[in-house]
Amino acid sequence: MIKLHDKHFKPFLSEQEILAAVKKVAAAVAADYKDETPIFVGILNGSFMFVSDFLKAYEHNCEVSFVRLSSYSGLSSTGIVETLIGVSDVIEGRSIIILEDVIDTGRTVKELVHMFTNSNVKEFKIATLFYKPSVYTGEYDIDYVGIEIPDKFIVGYGLDYNELGRNLKEVYQLNQNNMINLVLFGKPGAGKGTQANFLKEEYNLIHISTGDVFRYNIKNNTELGILAKSYMDKGDLVPDEVTINMLKDEVEKNPAASGFIFDGFPRTTAQAEALDNFLSTKDMRIDATIALDANDETLIQRLLERGKVSGRTDDQDENKIRNRFEEYNQKTAPLQEFYRKQGKFHAVNGIGKIEDITTRLGHVIDSLTVKK
Ligand code: AMP
Repeated sequence: MIKLHDKHFKPFLSEQEILAAVKKVAAAVAADYKDETPIFVGILNGSFMFVSDFLKAYEHNCEVSFVRLSSYSGLSSTGIVETLIGVSDVIEGRSIIILEDVIDTGRTVKELVHMFTNSNVKEFKIATLFYKPSVYTGEYDIDYVGIEIPDKFIVGYGLDYNELGRNLKEVYQLNQNNMINLVLFGKPGAGKGTQANFLKEEYNLIHISTGDVFRYNIKNNTELGILAKSYMDKGDLVPDEVTINMLKDEVEKNPAASGFIFDGFPRTTAQAEALDNFLSTKDMRIDATIALDANDETLIQRLLERGKVSGRTDDQDENKIRNRFEEYNQKTAPLQEFYRKQGKFHAVNGIGKIEDITTRLGHVIDSLTVKK
């Protein structure tokens, strides 16, 4: 395991596996181009190691040049591709073969195709060492592929995480074993949102509140918001399918998160099962479900107080509040048993000073990280 900046990475591909893939690509290109002198164009910065080993394995006449584009900042693609330095050699009538370290969404490929289609090159091909077929959305075929890899964030052999890791001989992938994924559980008004705001800072987690996402959508009058509003106004739950899909989107927006706090989700057994299945496809799991316990009378007082400040209509009407409790008792309470069976259920006293409750939650979370 290695650490780059704030993240841990574990071994993914050995030097031998990488070099075997490089040689395979070089041999495939050589079979097509050995009778002419192609120009290989490396895409900086990530491809420099690949280009170097590729050229050593390519035993025929060739030329080499580099271009520099930029499409990454941090861990996720920003979607911006700009050409910083271009190919200056005379390329007219020549065969150009792009050497790329990794192709994922295909945005860089698109830019390259655009750059080269207007020039009078003889042929234009793309060779990549790593290729993520599950995320490639581009419309151009990739001509030569070294290794197909799943959608993992990788570093090493020229690839970086915020500029570190390029000098590694092997390729490493982001380690998710240190992830902490928590469900904050409890009735409306139990303090899930308040506590999540503290915990997310302390443990570097992404806070997803399904209620907040719905309210955001209502405010912006989206299709989802219009649909959710009719249920929320009455204090009913929004249908599972809608909520589950929304939750998945929120998780997928954060591919490199150190963990998540799920607040207000899951609220039904179907949602809990969907969450387990979804997380397992990503090599992730819920570590703990922590309930904030409080009695109904305290909660009603808190919600009515909150309603005066927040303006939330579902907090201002005692009947709506009681309906939300009813929904909770019928649909959400059974989840205690669901998580207890998995050995993941914890409860803390949700009454007291805010910072004392944070401390209680912290004890539970720290006991989980010690186990890891
Ligand atoms: P909250 O902010 O968590 O109290 O949620 C406010 C309202 O949003 C709830 O009363 C539901 O109508 C809706 N909602 C939030 N989360 C869910 C969920 N997981 N499933 C269904 N409805 C939800």
